[in-house]
Amino acid sequence: MGREEKDVIWQLVFSALKEEITEWQANLWFGKITAEEIDDNKAVLRLDNLLMRTMVNDRYLPLIEKCFATIFGHPVPVTIIGENTRRKDVILPGDIGAAASPVPEERPKREEPRSSPGRQEYTFENFVVGSSNKLAHAACLAVTETAIAGPESEDFDMYNPLFVYGDSGLGKTHLMYSIKNKIEREHPEVSLIYIKGEEFTNQMVEAIASKRTAEFRERFRLADILIIDDIQFIANRPGVQEEVFHTFNYLYESNKQIVFTSDKPPKDINPLESRLRNRFEQGMMADIQPPDIELRMAIIKQKSKQLDIDVPYEVVTYMADRLKTNIRQVEGALKKTAAVSFLTGQPITVETARKAIADFLTESEPQNVLIDRILNTVSIKFHVSVEDLKGKAQTVEIVNPRNEAIYLLRTLTDLSTVEIGKIFNRSHTTILHSVSKVEGMIKNYAAYEEEISELIADIKG
Ligand code: ADP
Ligand code: MG
Repeated sequence: MGREEKDVIWQLVFSALKEEITEWQANLWFGKITAEEIDDNKAVLRLDNLLMRTMVNDRYLPLIEKCFATIFGHPVPVTIIGENTRRKDVILPGDIGAAASPVPEERPKREEPRSSPGRQEYTFENFVVGSSNKLAHAACLAVTETAIAGPESEDFDMYNPLFVYGDSGLGKTHLMYSIKNKIEREHPEVSLIYIKGEEFTNQMVEAIASKRTAEFRERFRLADILIIDDIQFIANRPGVQEEVFHTFNYLYESNKQIVFTSDKPPKDINPLESRLRNRFEQGMMADIQPPDIELRMAIIKQKSKQLDIDVPYEVVTYMADRLKTNIRQVEGALKKTAAVSFLTGQPITVETARKAIADFLTESEPQNVLIDRILNTVSIKFHVSVEDLKGKAQTVEIVNPRNEAIYLLRTLTDLSTVEIGKIFNRSHTTILHSVSKVEGMIKNYAAYEEEISELIADIKG
């Protein structure tokens, strides 16, 4: 299709989009999009700004596809490309290994059900490991390696099946795609099937209705690795459980790897046939717990790098402190903050973050308790009394801890600089000065940043 034609089509879709959301929003989000390639069965669009592209992909892709479908009269898959290639997006600065052995652009094509899109960005490299998820992470890596080595590998039985469980939004699907992406990139000869529990159920119900159960069975039995994500969806479905059981036995007997994830441990999936529960429990069980503050901070930093946005350390702390239970939410809040700053042209600050994430916030403890804890923690750590922290002495031994206490009050509480000034008997400009001093130190010295992180972890217990 020539330049003009595809531009005309894109203009049509663009107008259709304006009908769906306000014209103002449509211009904002889609105004910079150009048509790269459009034919009867696919559309490739271009949007160079990485942040915008991420957000359009996250929020508006189904809407764009719907508008294409309306105009074409049949479904058209849409991809949005841009200046930074996918590959670059997932390689973090300093990740020399990954940069030195770039992934081939063209991978062997696999049939993929429409409902489980690529998720190329979910890799082991950008999964941040902390104490709450390191077991699950290690087990998934081990499974990947033993599956590649095959049944001869020493550990083969140890992780089979692997059952990963934990609350929603804590990284189970990310880990499953990490296995998938690593195997597809490095060992395309290994046949891997990833399917969601829900999709497995639907396909099976369909197969029964169309009398194609044999085909259905065959498909899954060809796998060297079978991943069923969110297996809890088979509860209440005796027929499906039966099928999972037989597929499981078949694969297990043929020394093939099976991985399940679930939002709860097998004993809490109800109803679940006991023979299936026994099977789930006979291998390796790995749980993922909610992230602690250090992990939340590390994830926010990593995600902002990936999104190519500049988030000051202060804001990282602020968000990590307030978004506690769910990493998906942390990511949403970060994108929202970035969007607000992007739209208003303002830099990201604690103030803009505070406004942007108000709807994500969890209840925090009473201010005065928190203020006391911050002062006490700093006091204990540096052997300086709280009186001295608030006092007039200007020796290095006291000034540094004082600055840190001020900094922590500023990021961990909702106190204004004026209010903090009152606690320390100082003007609000002095408070601002202390905060920026600590900021500068954090920027320049990794060890100093670590010290602050430790203090925060202590305060947050
Ligand atoms: P689940 O499948 O457990 O509900 P997901 O795997 O979908 O959770 O994770 C939700 C979001 O959080 C994803 O965007 C994922 O990339 C991100 N995420 C979760 N854990 C981590 C981690 N340890 N490091 C980086 N990103 C993470
Ligand atoms: Mg999931």
